[in-house]
Amino acid sequence: MTKIIAFGVTPEEAEVMEQWSKAHSIHVEMTPEYITPETVHLAEGFDGITNMQVSDIVEPVYSKLKELGIPVIAQRSAGYEMYDLKAASDNDVIITNVPSYSPESIAEFVVYAAMRLIRNSDEIDQRVASQNFTWEPSIRSHSIQSLKVAVIGVGRIGSRVAKIYKHGFGAEVVGYDIVEHEEFKEHVVYQPDLQTAIKDADIVTIHMPLTEDNYHQFNHDLFNQMKPGTTLINAARGKIVKTQDLIEAIDRGQIKNAALDVYEDEGPFIPKNWEGQVIEDEVFLQILNHPNIHYTPHIAYYTDIAVQNLVEGGLNSALEVIKTGTDEHRVN
Ligand code: NAD
Repeated sequence: MTKIIAFGVTPEEAEVMEQWSKAHSIHVEMTPEYITPETVHLAEGFDGITNMQVSDIVEPVYSKLKELGIPVIAQRSAGYEMYDLKAASDNDVIITNVPSYSPESIAEFVVYAAMRLIRNSDEIDQRVASQNFTWEPSIRSHSIQSLKVAVIGVGRIGSRVAKIYKHGFGAEVVGYDIVEHEEFKEHVVYQPDLQTAIKDADIVTIHMPLTEDNYHQFNHDLFNQMKPGTTLINAARGKIVKTQDLIEAIDRGQIKNAALDVYEDEGPFIPKNWEGQVIEDEVFLQILNHPNIHYTPHIAYYTDIAVQNLVEGGLNSALEVIKTGTDEHRVN
């Protein structure tokens, strides 16, 4: 019987894995452990691996897998930057991802996150908690219909975000992408470059992958080219935004506020319970405590349908590599 080991398994994933295991007659062993040089030995005797983690998977994991004859790690997320693809390829380990599991879930979340900021929800909640029911300019808001939204990265998620803003709210929606897709032009007016797209937007919402070209692309210089008072949403990858520069731009009023579902050094924190422990990452602490930053722990994707699609996608890819030696979602 084919045997797959699943690393980084949460209790809710376990349920879906059990159903998949029965339906496919494949043994799926589950562990909450992440793959590290210390835990990789757990894979001994298995035909393939599926994994979910955000911290780096480093050598000597890949050479150990080669030694164990394991040909695949099927990551249960779209992002795969935690893998050393060269080391994996050098050791004949195929890495796969699940490129699309519910773009709607992320799109809906980022629009909600922007709405919270635009409608001053935190401040209104605080006032209501202290029985202050007055109306004052500090909590007066804007109709989204009157705003201009810039979508940066108009792909699966970005195009849905654009669609909601344009056709749901009637907002003006511009976008920037290194590739323009004809079918998205009914939702977004493409701009020739990032600077033009962001320069007079009220909401800038980031939906591109992290690449060598956009590391810390949202930095002091770019913030200065935005309209003062912009709302920034990042649910893509933390390293696209230079966090320290963002905090500084918010503190001097250049950026009004931000919703961050990702943080550039989130590895040690996501998805872990740090209750009662001391966080020493000063920048992360500043985000957590900043009144104008709404932080969420990489949770935009987190819906029932997304969890099911991720688990099944990872297991299907692991099985496909075991059976055929490759998979349509391989990334190396
Ligand atoms: P996608 O590949 O469908 O779309 C990404 C788009 O970005 C593409 O159209 C691509 O051409 C464009 N792009 C790439 N580099 C660019 C650049 N330098 N400048 C402008 N555009 C650029 O991907 P997707 O499914 O829409 O996902 C987008 C990102 O969202 C992912 O890469 C991931 O980082 C993030 N994500 C976050 C969560 C979450 O829970 N927070 C969940 C899933 C995905």
